[in-house]
Amino acid sequence: MTSTAARTALELTSDLPVAELEDLYRDLHRHPELSLHEHRTAGKLAGRLKGAGFETVEGVGGTGVVGRLRSGDGPTVLLRADMDALPVREATGLSYASETNGVMHACGHDLHVTWLAGAAEALAAGRDAWRGTLLVVGQPAEETGQGASRMVADGLYERFGRPDVLLGQHAAPGPAGLYPHVPGLIMSASTDVDIVVHGRGGHGSRPEATVDPVVTAAYLVTRLQTVVSREVAARESAVLTVGRIEAGTRHNIIPDEARIALNLRTQSEEVRQRMLAAIRRVARGECLAAGCPREPDVSIGNTFPVTVNDAGTDAAVAAVHGEVFGAGTVFDPGPAMGSEDFPELALGSIPYAYWFVTTTPGEVWEQAPGDTLQEKFAAVPSNHSPHFAPDLSTVAPGVRTLVSGALALLAEA
Ligand code: ZN
Ligand code: ZN
Repeated sequence: MTSTAARTALELTSDLPVAELEDLYRDLHRHPELSLHEHRTAGKLAGRLKGAGFETVEGVGGTGVVGRLRSGDGPTVLLRADMDALPVREATGLSYASETNGVMHACGHDLHVTWLAGAAEALAAGRDAWRGTLLVVGQPAEETGQGASRMVADGLYERFGRPDVLLGQHAAPGPAGLYPHVPGLIMSASTDVDIVVHGRGGHGSRPEATVDPVVTAAYLVTRLQTVVSREVAARESAVLTVGRIEAGTRHNIIPDEARIALNLRTQSEEVRQRMLAAIRRVARGECLAAGCPREPDVSIGNTFPVTVNDAGTDAAVAAVHGEVFGAGTVFDPGPAMGSEDFPELALGSIPYAYWFVTTTPGEVWEQAPGDTLQEKFAAVPSNHSPHFAPDLSTVAPGVRTLVSGALALLAEA
């Protein structure tokens, strides 16, 4: 243990109200709220921030919460947690399972809010140990990719000051107690695309009088599988998944149109543009081949940017995590195909570090089939699974990651 930040972090978190933070976590888990409806969650977080002495404002970008605490001259460090839940029916069987039918904290954002509240309180209580300004953000609507940009558009930085650096963390599968860090690209971009194939409907017995959009859509779905395999270089990583295909009403009616919804994951803007161009070309080509009466509509829906850590910032945070938790707990897993709207808070220029906290309970990990880390990783419940159930033992460590990360970037008192 060498750095002041690590020593101070351990001091400030030596006597965390763990039982009480676990209660907060269980309460948030019982009461999940969908994107842009995080009223109760926001209220809970705002109450804690006010109680800890933060100047606190609610309703930023919809249901966002911002807390600010100054302690003399120094950098402004923003700590962010997302707050929304998912339309997933919980199947964990936990005593504190969701009480809202069909809605569940299946991505761990309840844990993120708990970590943020605990860290804000610890840093406020220990404000004599650091210099600078803390900006604490409870962000709505991460799952729909809207929340971060809505908060920025609502004047987040005009009203509360532009931060010098941003920190964010996410619960992830893996044996509880690891802190994966990546010094550059850590999360991929996500792009939703909708395609409408226009045919000409008619009686199922007389296909010669129609242009069947179902057959065209089937060709299109198959042909789209060649975009990644034949048009993206092997050194690049990309995914194209058709998640929804919809056409028709009855066995003997050829419908007028077919709809295809797909999602792309990419790790560079060049590959993304290349894939979008290929999708448009393939869609037009299949419709032309089928004799469709008009060109298909291809539209872009929800998008998430790539998440690229600033190498220096991430190195500083990874180093303090290694000191606080032990060097073996921090490792580089390489980029993930998942996506985040956190980088929207960076406006393309504010450096940030974003890392994972593994949360799979030890016994679940032990019992998962497989011998290697990869095999077990694929076998345990992932984020968005109805069985996703982070270990309560990760409540205190997730507070320490934020406190130590912040202290590594704030000035020393
Ligand atoms: Zn999620
Ligand atoms: Zn998430």
